[in-house]
Amino acid sequence: MSPTVLIIEDEVDLAHAMAWALSRQGIEALCVHTGREGLAALRRSPRPHLLLLDLMLPDLPGEEVARAVRADPETAGMPIVMVSAKDSELDRVVGLAIGADDYVSKPFSIRELVLRVRGILRRTGQDRGGSRPDRLGPLRVDHDGRQAWVEDVPLDLTALELRLLSTLVGRRGQVLRREDLLDDVWGTTADEVTLRAVDARIKALRRKLGPAAELLETVRGVGYRLGTPD
Ligand code: CA
Repeated sequence: MSPTVLIIEDEVDLAHAMAWALSRQGIEALCVHTGREGLAALRRSPRPHLLLLDLMLPDLPGEEVARAVRADPETAGMPIVMVSAKDSELDRVVGLAIGADDYVSKPFSIRELVLRVRGILRRTGQDRGGSRPDRLGPLRVDHDGRQAWVEDVPLDLTALELRLLSTLVGRRGQVLRREDLLDDVWGTTADEVTLRAVDARIKALRRKLGPAAELLETVRGVGYRLGTPD
C-alpha cells in the first residue's frame, strides 16, 4: 500500500504542485483547502500517514487543526509537517509547541519538501521503501538509511552518501540516470556542474564501499546501477 499524505493548504496551485511531486515518489496525496475540510478528511478512514499543514488557513488557524489532531487518540501520533508563509521565530515556537515533526517556510523548494516527507515516512515505516531489501551481497543498509555496513563493518559515510547508497540499494538492479539521482538524492536539477558532482560523489562512495565496490557499476553515458538486474 502506498503511503498517503493529507495536504491542508489554501493556495490551490501550491497544494497541487506538492501533491504532484509526492505522487512521483509513489506517495499518494489528498488536497483540501480549509482547516474544516482537513479535520473532516482526517476522521475518514483510511487515515493518512502524514499531514502537511499550512499555518495560515482561511477558516481555522493551522495550530488549531494541529491541536485537534494531537487531541484525538486516533490521530495523535500522526506526523505533521508545518508549512508557513513567514519564517519567524514565533512560527517555529508554535510549530514546536504543537509537536510538529518538521517545519518548512515559504517559499520552499518542493523537492526539499518531498525529501523531508520521505524522510519522516521512512522513519515511521510508511515509505514504500520500508519493504525493500536492505541487503545486497556483503552490503547492508538500514531502513532509515542512517547506517551502512560492508561485511558487518560500519561505513563512514556522509549523510548525502548514505542517501545516495540507500536510493541505489532501494532500486537495486536498475540503471539510475544521473538526472534522477540529482532529483531524488540532492533535490536539485541537472546541469554540467551538478552532474559532475554526482560522478564525484559516486567515486567517493565506491572508494568507501571497499569489497562491495564492484557492485556499483557505471553505465556509460546513462548513470549508475547497484547490483545486477533481476
Ligand atoms: Ca495559507
